[in-house]
Amino acid sequence: MLTLGSARFSSPLAARLSDDVRQRFLRYVRIDTQAQEDSTTYPSTAKQLDLSRLLVSELGEIGLEDIELTEHGYVFATLPGTLGAPVIGLIAHVDTTPDSPGADVAPIVHEDYAGGVITLPGDPSQVIDPAKELALAARVGHDIVTSDGTTLLGADDKAGVAEIMAAVAHLVGTPEPRATVRVAFTVDEEVGRGTDYFDLEKFGAEAAYTLDGSGLGELEIETFSAYQVRVTFRGRGAHPGSAKGNLVNAVKLAAEFIASLPPDSLSPETTEDREGFIHPSRIGGGVEETTVALIVRDHDDARLDEHTALVRRLAEAIGEREPRARVTVEVQETYRNMRAEIDKHPRVIAAAEEAIRRAGVEPVRSLIRGGTDGARLSAMGLPTPNIFTGGQNYHSTREWASVQDMAAAAATVVELVRVWAEGETRTTG
Ligand SMILES: [Zn+2]
Repeated sequence: MLTLGSARFSSPLAARLSDDVRQRFLRYVRIDTQAQEDSTTYPSTAKQLDLSRLLVSELGEIGLEDIELTEHGYVFATLPGTLGAPVIGLIAHVDTTPDSPGADVAPIVHEDYAGGVITLPGDPSQVIDPAKELALAARVGHDIVTSDGTTLLGADDKAGVAEIMAAVAHLVGTPEPRATVRVAFTVDEEVGRGTDYFDLEKFGAEAAYTLDGSGLGELEIETFSAYQVRVTFRGRGAHPGSAKGNLVNAVKLAAEFIASLPPDSLSPETTEDREGFIHPSRIGGGVEETTVALIVRDHDDARLDEHTALVRRLAEAIGEREPRARVTVEVQETYRNMRAEIDKHPRVIAAAEEAIRRAGVEPVRSLIRGGTDGARLSAMGLPTPNIFTGGQNYHSTREWASVQDMAAAAATVVELVRVWAEGETRTTG
């Protein structure tokens, strides 16, 4: 029976780390760390720091050094390496998405999953169906963690946090050669501000990895490039009783603009893989003034600029049809595809692939239809690919994570820190 049980783990190390990963994960997801759009504070919500403070105290118990909660809410800590080894960063974010309820998460562990539909008891309309989710179908015998269906789970990114914590807790007591590790737990990743105050010099790593991916074995070295675009329509208000020939309704202008976007292409709901999109994500305002916020994304920077030019043309066309209105288009860069930066550092990718293999998993290169903290950090000069965490269905109440996959990710982190030390021995010896 013991052999059967441990066979579910990708490696003996993963089996050994699994209890610690599971316990940490279940502890962290119960803490509400939901970020908030349009907040004027940093971090966007103070409650994110509840987890940051817990991590500071747990890192102290583990025995890491230089543990710090910065004034902006980042947790930094150091695990000293053996002589001559380089400094490698491990990064995860404590916040969860505002897209789905994030308070009072009640995690459920479906032990030794037998297959079949998982119905979430807090809201039985929420089901996770292996017929639709091949990753779940392939995880019979795993311990599957879900929420009760009324909230997100928070595997994005508390799985990553738990995996890094379990890995450094293991490494601290082992004699094998290892790189020096700098740990960072960031805030506000989900509202696109995860690295706004990230001090690269203070972090002091020569390469880093975010633990913020998804399916088993995935290594992501490519993201979207992204713009945030705000289109504002200013109309002319008038009392509706005496508005004839006078009123210019900004609500209707915004509606016309949205209706003019391509209906069958260039949207998240009609594209996949490397295809980009224009996505009106929020709208707000009234008769006098209405603003449409859009996210525009593509893996290719030239195509990204084409999509943005299309938004501008469509907005301006509304202004030409109604000259009494004023239309403004503001474009702001959110992040750039990190591929170009990471390609300059082949060792960063090779080390991750080797570590994933040593954890007993076949590495899969994939691309992110979104961004990560790593995209920003790579642009700032710190190559930072993204490693899988084992979480699935992010940003939804049907989010789930396999304990066995999380253990494989934690084992990958341990192996990675050792691979970097070996590389150093070869280059210096
Ligand atoms: Zn994330």
